[in-house]
Amino acid sequence: MAKSKYEYVKEFETDDKLLRNVFILVRVDGKGFHKFSAAHQFNKPNDVRALNLMNHAARSVMHELDDIVLAFGESDEYSFLFRRSTDLYQRRESKIVSTVVSLFTSAYVYYWNDYFTDSRRPLYPPVFDGRAVLYPSEVEVKDYFAWRQADTHINNLFNTSFWALVEKGGMTPKAAEVKLSGTDSKDKNEMLFTEFNTNYSKLPAIFRKGSVLLREHILKSLDKDHIIPTLPETLPGSTSADASVAESTMDTEEDTATPSISETPSIDNKRPLESDGATDEGDPTSEGAGESSGEFQAPPGFKRMKKGVVIDHIDIIGPKFWSGRGAYILAPEKRKKTGP
Ligand SMILES: [Mg+2]
Repeated sequence: MAKSKYEYVKEFETDDKLLRNVFILVRVDGKGFHKFSAAHQFNKPNDVRALNLMNHAARSVMHELDDIVLAFGESDEYSFLFRRSTDLYQRRESKIVSTVVSLFTSAYVYYWNDYFTDSRRPLYPPVFDGRAVLYPSEVEVKDYFAWRQADTHINNLFNTSFWALVEKGGMTPKAAEVKLSGTDSKDKNEMLFTEFNTNYSKLPAIFRKGSVLLREHILKSLDKDHIIPTLPETLPGSTSADASVAESTMDTEEDTATPSISETPSIDNKRPLESDGATDEGDPTSEGAGESSGEFQAPPGFKRMKKGVVIDHIDIIGPKFWSGRGAYILAPEKRKKTGP
């Protein structure tokens, strides 16, 4: 086909392909969210509706982009880690970042009324910016997520203390700030406990630890409608149940409903998951089969269902999080499908 005489303008486009064989991390961050949260009367220090809406938007991104293997969210930001070998948009930075930010933002608005149920629209369009950062090894990837969760902890402890002083203690914001300046986390914990009868460590984990989105296999009980993710701590018969696991919120690829946050739900009272019912048990072609520490077999009485996006509020600082699931998250290659 003949080229038009205008086509030369295409030559002005620059090549922005990201380096191969390194981890791509995309962070989305709310712009002007102090103002946005005030305008929409978000609860202080945390608004669980707003956090769940962020989680839903992030889940939408993970459902659309298979190469995202891990996401972490707190406050008005979300971080998405791409599989090291991803070839999404031939690794063009502008395409990757703009797609993540656009999808996240549109989902945030699209699902707004699922969480802010007064059926009013947002007063004005929220804005998120985005950036891509490259990390050469798993050391930096692990430290990146540790950094964001440490940030969650520091900010939340400060905000919880600050708003206790203002709302329950009757202090002015200025006086509360002065009182907190120079205090360490031990001082703040102590103050919350003695002055406000608040045990910080008992506050919902979503506030203290942020939200982690993972792709996990889901187990379904064969004798009742009972589905749990295969987080190592939640396997049937596990004796080391971690308290944070009880706060898991799960969802599968079929994105149907409002994720709930409750302080102390048990596994049994969770909403049964909608799923396509497919199992990949014994299917060597399925993604993730045999990952990490050998072939994963569903325990007796359960069948393993395909991977779904699971939301949890667990520690991602330290080796416990990465043991087992690290092999999948940090794998250099996507597992090749074999066989017919
Ligand atoms: Mg922000």
